[in-house]
Amino acid sequence: MREIDVRCAVCGALQRTVELTSTGSFGPPDLDLRPNGPARWALPFHVQRCDACGYAARSIGSAPRQAGEVVRSVVYRDVLERSKLPGLARSYFCAALVAEAAGEYEASGWAFLSAAWDCDDRDLAGRARTCRERAAEMFSRGLERGRLELSPSVALTLVAELWRRAGRFDEALASCEAADAELAEIASAGEGEDGGSTSAVVAFLRTLATVGDDESHSCAEAFAEGD
Ligand SMILES: [Zn+2]
Repeated sequence: MREIDVRCAVCGALQRTVELTSTGSFGPPDLDLRPNGPARWALPFHVQRCDACGYAARSIGSAPRQAGEVVRSVVYRDVLERSKLPGLARSYFCAALVAEAAGEYEASGWAFLSAAWDCDDRDLAGRARTCRERAAEMFSRGLERGRLELSPSVALTLVAELWRRAGRFDEALASCEAADAELAEIASAGEGEDGGSTSAVVAFLRTLATVGDDESHSCAEAFAEGD
């Protein structure tokens, strides 16, 4: 860990930030891809917030063109100053709003999901659900507009998991179906991608969503199910 001074790209204030030099991750992640091991506890270090203007981002030293306008918006000020989210989740939620406005849907999705993880750690189930719904919307929008680095089958599986954890089981099952259709297409095209592990996760998610289970589960359980 090291401290460095960064100039906020929105307001120009000099801010002291902490940077992690490395984070390993061990063991299978949760179904929503939250890492386990040391990386799980690195959540506070993957978002920065300017004390002067409130701009939040993975790195506040750079900002998309729209950032200043978003940071001054009523919605942003509301989340930053008046929301019931815990502090870290607020920073992530704010960072997600900036990314969304810039059309960076995947970055926005991960930031909303990180906000959900902070809520999970504080047993704030209702607020975690709201953050997951927003994350699911962002990944879905990115997929529709062809703006994701994640492959469509992985993105649809992640979206299914997010809807499931948000208690939106119908949406979760619909996403499972879309993921399966995508995997079937990959299989029939005979492309290199191995959809086997994703298929096992989709099958596990469908089982959980069918019985109305919105609890956290790990990927390891998905693979154990098939044995
Ligand atoms: Zn600033």
